Amino acid sequence: MRIDENVSLKPYNTFGMDVFARKFARFSSADELLEIFEHQNEECFFLGGGSNILFTRNVNGILMKNEIPGIELINSDADHYYVKAGAGENWHRFVMYCVDRDYAGVENLALIPGNVGASPMQNIGAYGVEVKDVFYALEALHIKDKHIRSFTRDECKFGYRESIFKSELKGEYVILNVTFRLLKKPVYHTGYGAIKAELEMMGVQELSIRNIANAVIKIRQSKLPDPEVIGNAGSFFKNPEIESDLFKRLEKEFPDIIGYSLPAQKVKLAAGWLIEQCGWKGYRNGDAGCHARQALVLVNYGNANGAEILQLSEKIIDSVRSKFGVTLQREVNVY
Ligand code: FAD
Ligand code: NAP
Repeated sequence: MRIDENVSLKPYNTFGMDVFARKFARFSSADELLEIFEHQNEECFFLGGGSNILFTRNVNGILMKNEIPGIELINSDADHYYVKAGAGENWHRFVMYCVDRDYAGVENLALIPGNVGASPMQNIGAYGVEVKDVFYALEALHIKDKHIRSFTRDECKFGYRESIFKSELKGEYVILNVTFRLLKKPVYHTGYGAIKAELEMMGVQELSIRNIANAVIKIRQSKLPDPEVIGNAGSFFKNPEIESDLFKRLEKEFPDIIGYSLPAQKVKLAAGWLIEQCGWKGYRNGDAGCHARQALVLVNYGNANGAEILQLSEKIIDSVRSKFGVTLQREVNVY
């Protein structure tokens, strides 16, 4: 067990915030984590790939970096493969493991940064697929009681970019591993965003999960800022879900407004469009900005601090509220 002191977290968060952890430990198994707990009893903060976090201050307790490895086929039945992955595995590596073996279901989720352990936290999603669609179970350790508990899909209470770990049980458990249920016979999801057009441009004649993963990778590489180049944590806000009556009223005033129908008389608005209409797209103040190609993504051009990004997000929330009467919710976790 090694615990470092006063470690800069700049290399460990994709926003590139230069905050410090008073103590910093890595663990590769539940036993290693328990050993750290035996010797430390200060406040701990768990980190995966650091791609969904905005640090606004130093971590005064101990930062625990989850590096639990392993991807393993543990079972199969007539229609499914069951694959268990350690929380510290890189998400995209896991996706490609599945694509390489023709285990279908995660191809639309290619190239999402971060680790397997955080994927159920906000039920990651892209291009019409969410982790809940392939989730089978997870094991997590209760931080206070130190017992390990399994969670089924229902127990995780998945919602749009939500789970029980972001709400009722926030900060109570550390996820150790996740088991996914992949399909033997693929069901292709190509109706979302630019996937169809990209597949056509690639000259794809016959669909396959590899072709879809490749199309998603190409679209993402062309559209989203690479955190290696410009600090960011992906979409800073969730797409708001509003009542369809409100949507109809907004549509009268703003005929170009983008909305997608949901069940139960709800409509999902494209938050990026709302932000763009308020004039924020491409905005920059010092090193804090709103990305020029995707207004949902707030960026750090170099030396912005967490408070500056947070302040910008508050201004954006205020202006969207006063123009459209809709309150944006942050998707990124703020520390
Ligand atoms: P971290 O940022 O390390 O942690 C996020 C939160 O989860 C923190 O509160 C942390 O304490 C907690 N946490 C992490 N691991 C554990 C664990 N094992 N147990 C308990 N708590 C834990 N998200 C999408 O949903 N869809 C996208 O398409 C998408 N695209 C993105 C594109 C870019 C360029 C970027 C930078 C981000 C994008 N994201 C997207 C957001 C992000 O990649 C995901 O939310 C990802 O799952 C975060 O994983 P992470 O390991 O980096 O989490
Ligand atoms: P896009 O294709 O330009 O679409 C804009 C928004 O419209 C998306 O946020 C998406 O909502 C919604 N949308 C598009 N087609 C839809 C359809 N057929 N039905 C319902 N909703 C539809 O989006 P983008 O920015 O390039 O992102 C592409 C995908 O990657 C999206 O799913 C997005 O969520 C995901 N992504 C997420 C993050 C993150 O950090 N969370 C970052 C980058 C990209 P949804 O977001 O609800 O899917």
